[in-house]
Amino acid sequence: MSVVGIDLGNLQSVISVARNRGIDVICNEVSNRATPSLVSFGSRQRYLGEAAKTQEVSNFKNTVGSLKRLAGRTLSDPDLQEYEKKFIAGELVDVNGQVGVKVNYLGEPQSFSNVQLIAMYLSKLKDITANEITAPVSDCVITVPGWFTEVQRRAVISAAEIAGLNCLRLVNDLTAAALGYGITKTDLPEDKPRNVAFVDVGHSDYSVSVVSFTKGQLTVRGSAFDKHFGGRNFDTVIADHLAAEFKEKFKIDVYTNQKALLRLMVAAERCKKVLSANPQAAVNIESIMDDRDVQTIVNRTDFEEWAAPLFTRTEDTLRKALENAGMTIDDIDAVEMVGGSTRIPAIKTTISNFFGKPISTTLNQDEAVSRGAALQCAMLSPVFKVREFRVNDICSHPIKLEWTKSPEDDDTEIVVFDNNNNIPSTKLLTFHRSEPFTLEAKYANPENLPVDVKPASNGEPAQIKVKVRLNIHGIMSVESAHTVEEKMVEEEVTNKDGEKETKKTKKLVKTADLTVVSGNTSVPRNFVEQYAEKESQMVASDKLIMATEAAKNSLEEYGYDMRDKVTGPLSEYIDAAIKDKFVEDLNTVVDWIYDEGDDQPKSVYVEKLDALKAIGTPVVERFREAEERPRAANSLREA
Ligand code: ATP
Ligand code: MG
Repeated sequence: MSVVGIDLGNLQSVISVARNRGIDVICNEVSNRATPSLVSFGSRQRYLGEAAKTQEVSNFKNTVGSLKRLAGRTLSDPDLQEYEKKFIAGELVDVNGQVGVKVNYLGEPQSFSNVQLIAMYLSKLKDITANEITAPVSDCVITVPGWFTEVQRRAVISAAEIAGLNCLRLVNDLTAAALGYGITKTDLPEDKPRNVAFVDVGHSDYSVSVVSFTKGQLTVRGSAFDKHFGGRNFDTVIADHLAAEFKEKFKIDVYTNQKALLRLMVAAERCKKVLSANPQAAVNIESIMDDRDVQTIVNRTDFEEWAAPLFTRTEDTLRKALENAGMTIDDIDAVEMVGGSTRIPAIKTTISNFFGKPISTTLNQDEAVSRGAALQCAMLSPVFKVREFRVNDICSHPIKLEWTKSPEDDDTEIVVFDNNNNIPSTKLLTFHRSEPFTLEAKYANPENLPVDVKPASNGEPAQIKVKVRLNIHGIMSVESAHTVEEKMVEEEVTNKDGEKETKKTKKLVKTADLTVVSGNTSVPRNFVEQYAEKESQMVASDKLIMATEAAKNSLEEYGYDMRDKVTGPLSEYIDAAIKDKFVEDLNTVVDWIYDEGDDQPKSVYVEKLDALKAIGTPVVERFREAEERPRAANSLREA
C-alpha cells in the first residue's frame, strides 16, 4: 500500500513517500527532486513533466503549464481572462463547461479540459512514484492552497481519480508544512501554545498561516493569501525592464513575438535566481528574434528598485494573517518560510523585519509541504504507525446557505461555515417547511439542494433538520435531512419520592428521513469515467510509442555493433560463406532505419532484430567459448 504526499505546485511538484525509516522525497527519471508541472503534446505522443520541460519553448503552443491555476475554472472566469491568460501560451477553450486547452496532438487539434490536463500530470507523478517504490501507487494526499474554493478542490480530486489515484485528503499547503514541523518537535509546550507564522511564497501565489502548537496538536488560527503574488511576478518585472532596454538598444519588440517573449521570461527567471546569491547577473539571449543576439547586466540593486512595490505588498498579507488569527506580532514565537521565492533576499528581510525576528530554518523550504502531505497520508493509512498528532485546520472561505423566504423565516441566508471554521465539521440547521425547497450553498458556484418535504401531520409546516458537513478536503455537502415533529411521548421518570411513574411529555421525534438530492460543482460522473478511459488509452498509447522507440533503438544499436564486430573481433568465428551476406544484411537494416524503417510498428523492429540475432548469436557464443577455454584451463591448473 502506498503512502504518498504530493505538493502540487504551479511550477513544479514534489513527491514524498513514507517508508519504514521515515519520509523520503523521491527523485524523478532525471534524478530531480521536483518535477516540472507541465504537459506537452506531440504528433506521436504526450510528454509529461521533465520531457515537457524540454519542449516548453520549442513546442510552446502545445505545452501547458499553470495547471493549478486552471483547476476547476470556466473559460469566462474573469481571473483567468484578466490575469492568468498572459502566463499561458496555449489556446484556452471551453470543454464541457470547463476551461481547457486546445492543442495539436497526434496530428490533429484536440481539446482537453483542465481536469484532464491535471490528471495527465498526476498520472506521470504516479508513474515516477511507482518506479521508485516498485509497487503500485494509489493512496495519496495532495496539497492545495488554502484559498482554493470548493470547485477547485473537487477538480483536483476528480483529476486524481482519473489518474487512478485515491486522494485520501486534500490538505492546505501550509497546514501540511505545519504538521511536518509539529510532529518532529519534542519540546512543544503543554499549555501556553507556541505560535508559529508559516510563510509560503511560491511561483504563482503567496500564503501565510498562523499556527498554534501545543504538545500533540496544532491549530491553524488564521490565514491570509495573495493569490496573485509569487516568483512569476518578479520574473515579469525583470522581463518588462529587459524588453524596454532591448527595444532601445537593439530595436526589437519582444512583445510582438511569443517565442521571443517566452525565452525572455526564461532568461528573467534565471537572472532573478542568480541575483539571490550575487550582486550582478549577466543576461545573454542568442538570436532572440530577427537574428539579434541580446545581452545586458542586471544589478541586484536595480532589481530591488524595480520590484519595490512587490516587496511592500509582501507585508499586507502578513498583517492580514495576524489579524485573521486575532494576534499581534508580539504573539508570534517563530517564523518559518517555505517556497522557492523566499530565497529572494529582499523578501527574507521584509518578512524578518516585519516580525522583528530572524527567520527559523527548521523546514526544508522546497520539500516541507510535500513531506507534510506524506505524513498526513501515513496518519490516514492503516499500514503506518505515526505518533498521534491532532491537526485542527480551518476553512478560509465563509460558506453560506441561501433559501427563499417562508413566513417562519427571519432570514434568507446563514453563514454556516464562517471564516476560520474547523475542517472537518458538521452543523445542524432547522427549517420550517411544508413543501420541497432549495438550499443554495455559495461562495463560488452555487450548490442546489432540493429536498422533498411534506407538511407535518397537523398540517403545519414541518420542522426540518438539515445536517451540513465541511469534509476533510474542505468541501461542503449536505449529509442528511429529516423532519421532526413535536409529539406526546410516554416516559418513565423517577418522582421525588424515588418512585417510578409514567409521564406524558412533549418531545421532538424524528418522523421521516428526507431524500437529499444534491447537485454540486464536481465534474459530472460520466465525464470522470469518460476521461478516465481516455486517459488510460493515452497512457497505453504513450507506452507503446516508447516501447516501439526502444525496439527501434535496440535494432539500430545491434546493427552498428554487430557490423563492427563481425568485421573485427568476431571475424574468425563466422563462417566465411555467410559472413558477407550477414554484413550486407546489417548494412541494409541500418540504412533502412533512416529511411522507410523510421516509423514502423514495434513488431517489425522486433522481427528484424530476431532474424539478425539468429545468425549473430551463435557467432557470439563461439567467440565466448573460445575466450572462456583458456581461462577455464587456467583455473583448472590453479585448482
Ligand atoms: P506555487 O506554490 O505558487 O503553486 P510552486 O510550489 O511550484 O508554485 P515553488 O517551487 O515554491 O513554487 O517556487 C518556485 C518559484 O521560486 C519560482 O518562481 C522560482 O523562480 C523561484 N525560485 C527558485 N529558486 C530561487 C532563487 N534562488 N531565487 C529566487 N527565486 C527562486
Ligand atoms: Mg508551492
